[in-house]
Amino acid sequence: MLRANGGRLKASLLEMGKIGGTAAGGVTRLTLSDADKQARDLFAAWARDAGLSVRVDDLGNQYARLEGSEPSAPPVLLGSHLDTVPAGGKFDGAFGVLTALEVARTLRDAGVRTRRSIEVVNFTNEEGARFEPAMIASGTLAGQFAPDYIYDRRDREGRSFGEELDRIGYRGSAANRPEEIHAYIETHIEQGPVLEAEGLPLAAVEGVLGLEWVNVTFKGLSQHAGPSPMRSRRDAMVAAARAVVALRDLALEYPDPAVVTVGRFQPIPGVINQIPGEVIVGIDMRLPSAQVLDEVGERARGLIQRIATEEKVDALVETIRKVPPTIFDRGLVELIEAEIVAEGLPRKRMTSGAGHDAVYINEIAPTAMLFVRTVGGKSHCETEAINWEDAQQAADVLLRVVMRLAGS
Ligand SMILES: [Zn+2]
Repeated sequence: MLRANGGRLKASLLEMGKIGGTAAGGVTRLTLSDADKQARDLFAAWARDAGLSVRVDDLGNQYARLEGSEPSAPPVLLGSHLDTVPAGGKFDGAFGVLTALEVARTLRDAGVRTRRSIEVVNFTNEEGARFEPAMIASGTLAGQFAPDYIYDRRDREGRSFGEELDRIGYRGSAANRPEEIHAYIETHIEQGPVLEAEGLPLAAVEGVLGLEWVNVTFKGLSQHAGPSPMRSRRDAMVAAARAVVALRDLALEYPDPAVVTVGRFQPIPGVINQIPGEVIVGIDMRLPSAQVLDEVGERARGLIQRIATEEKVDALVETIRKVPPTIFDRGLVELIEAEIVAEGLPRKRMTSGAGHDAVYINEIAPTAMLFVRTVGGKSHCETEAINWEDAQQAADVLLRVVMRLAGS
């Protein structure tokens, strides 16, 4: 059985991690920055050295292609992204791109020619840390955004995506976008603590949690803290605080991976001796099925209105974002799971709590993901880490999956 070169994969991840590397061992490699250009150039150089041909599309997505024996057959697409958040880690994104490159290198070294071509993709701007929204380029491939909208996105200094794409020399041609894709597999760090807690290195990812963001404005009566007797108050703060706890308890009625988070809590005026007249609460709800997403959303609204009534305040509830859950291709999920088992590892499936380019590519091609254990569940931080043995196993499983999909 063919094995990936884990040593080479490790060396590549560490080398790539130096680009935009921070003193604390992390990486700041914002989309279309000089560091992003360097990372792209290095990836392209490695790919060419391995005998792959490299092309760039109009969104800056890079594709490194290992030609199959049937060049006209739709390719197997593998990859992720090389951009990071500010003070991020070495593995979020880069792990998926470089594991895919390692698979191509291994096949090439062994002289294995697959029937289908294999393409390793580096998607532009997955993180959305510099140009919002996130996953801009995969979303455009899926027809969710128009290129002109993308080119006009601006960073905080006012520089546009299109200008920066030109500046680093990565505006390619729309003709270089993939046509038909046989399958897309994205390998990614889990970014959470589940695999580590269960003592497992890998999981097949069945989908991504659906999401609803709700803004609630509790409106009471702003009064001086001293002269206002407790029993006559209309205290927006108390209502908001009760809602936070009630929402946590609501989420606990559902099994993992259901999550409800209040990440924004803003009392107005926010003065120590004043009863806040208004408190704005931002709620993030993520659930694995559309039905449960609707159900939890409805129950959340119900409990907010009940608490508001009890506290004699008003609650204005508005949905600011709603994304249905992503369900990946069942056949691909089963294939990944079977190859994890063939590797001698326990069977494991899970749902991603975070979004990935795979969410958009799933709309245009059969898609699934492979997760690798993240040390301490820590991600989007400088101490992001993986175990090198897990990286070897992830590359080996991806290699097996690719050989099945591409035909050897
Ligand atoms: Zn990522």
